Amino acid sequence: MIENKLSRNSGLWKQEFGEEFAVPETIAAEMIDQSWHNDACPSFTMMYPTDVVPTLYVNHPDPAKREGFDERYCVTVNGDDVLVTDDVSEAVTWIKFHTQHYGHDVTGSMRAGYVSVCWDCDEELKAHNGR
Ligand SMILES: [Zn+2]
Repeated sequence: MIENKLSRNSGLWKQEFGEEFAVPETIAAEMIDQSWHNDACPSFTMMYPTDVVPTLYVNHPDPAKREGFDERYCVTVNGDDVLVTDDVSEAVTWIKFHTQHYGHDVTGSMRAGYVSVCWDCDEELKAHNGR
């Protein structure tokens, strides 16, 4: 049953990277799979795929086999990293926030201490690893 659901919703990352990447079902089932083998790892979005919308990268489960960043998950907006984390629910929360507020006046990046603020909606998001 699970296998059917996964293959219906997320065949692409398996084709491009192989099952060893073990993308969590909560990501595979909810998001648009835009994985491409020329990237370091599978990637997902909640908007129509282009290379600038909020994107969630899912790194290899084995830290020794990771490329590009050390954690399991990375969220980027317009190509800038806004979050790296090992917590899947945090990664999903962040890509949802940045998708919901895409095009708004949003500040925040990893360099800003893992805090994102939408000044249009007056909403703030803080990561667990925020200082
Ligand atoms: Zn907003």
